[in-house]
Amino acid sequence: STLDKSAKIFVAGHRGLVGSAVVRRLHHLGFTNLLLRSHSDLDLTHQSAVDAFFASEKPQFVILAAAKVGGIHANATFPADFISVNLQIQTNVIDSAHRHGVAKLLFLGSSCIYPKFAPQPIPESALLTGPLEPTNEWYAVAKIAGIKMCQAYRIQYGWDAISAMPTNLYGPNDNFHPENSHVLPALVRRFHEAKVSGAKEVVVWGTGSPLREFLHVDDLADAVVFLLERYSGFVHVNVGSGKEVTIKELAELVKEVVGFEGDLIWDTSKPDGTPRKLMDSSMLAGLGWFPKISLRDGLVDTYKWYVENVKQ
Ligand code: GDP
Repeated sequence: STLDKSAKIFVAGHRGLVGSAVVRRLHHLGFTNLLLRSHSDLDLTHQSAVDAFFASEKPQFVILAAAKVGGIHANATFPADFISVNLQIQTNVIDSAHRHGVAKLLFLGSSCIYPKFAPQPIPESALLTGPLEPTNEWYAVAKIAGIKMCQAYRIQYGWDAISAMPTNLYGPNDNFHPENSHVLPALVRRFHEAKVSGAKEVVVWGTGSPLREFLHVDDLADAVVFLLERYSGFVHVNVGSGKEVTIKELAELVKEVVGFEGDLIWDTSKPDGTPRKLMDSSMLAGLGWFPKISLRDGLVDTYKWYVENVKQ
């Protein structure tokens, strides 16, 4: 199978932040034969259903962006769901894809696979060199197993399965839940609601000093297609922007983009989390891929999407 514009590509998780961006990107590039299934049509935790789907549809390429995801609060509350649902989805999809003749699969993970005290910026080689951050280890263990499954199928069968590990993502179709979301969508919503209600202040969690790296999901989608076309290596690939901001800088930028005029209040009873989390994306740069969307432009785009879709 070659990855031409008529190649049959199954994008698993096409309603989510990552999957929806991948579909937009593939459509934009002129791919015409995307295979998509919503959750109600195909439950990816249901092994026999997944297998029957691959047997009858016979996709040529798979982008595995389906996962149960959430922030620190959701991970702490539903650890069993995070480990079991993710292990089931990826095991079912990877194994059935291999057995039913898929030419290439790309598995998506996240930067939380790395040890809590990994060197910064974090290179791919830091995987499994130390203990994980306890708050999301259930999700992280499942994602590490996914990377290892891709590697194992490559060794045993010569099957072309690759993995991409994005940094903190944001963009359209993100989760904007007030407590269970990540910081960027949480702040977009909070500043917007404060502006609309005429509130004088907005509460932001922690001290504002932690450093985080953010990547617009359209940049990730571009990298995913790039890797699908050009990378067939054993090692998983970091996908980051290479740009860090403090949470305070992020909050000021969201405030400005949203147009909120009041004050920021720091709730230091809330946890800061890890002080710094930056990926080393030099391997991807070496392959010739670079991000294009600045944090400011990406925030403007995300806020526009939020305002247009806020009622859904
Ligand atoms: P992390 O990167 O895994 O720590 O995940 P988060 O995106 O949840 O948090 C990143 C940082 O943003 C932490 O230092 C939080 O304390 C801080 N933060 C500030 N306000 C918020 C908020 O409203 N929601 C979340 N999730 N984090 C916030």
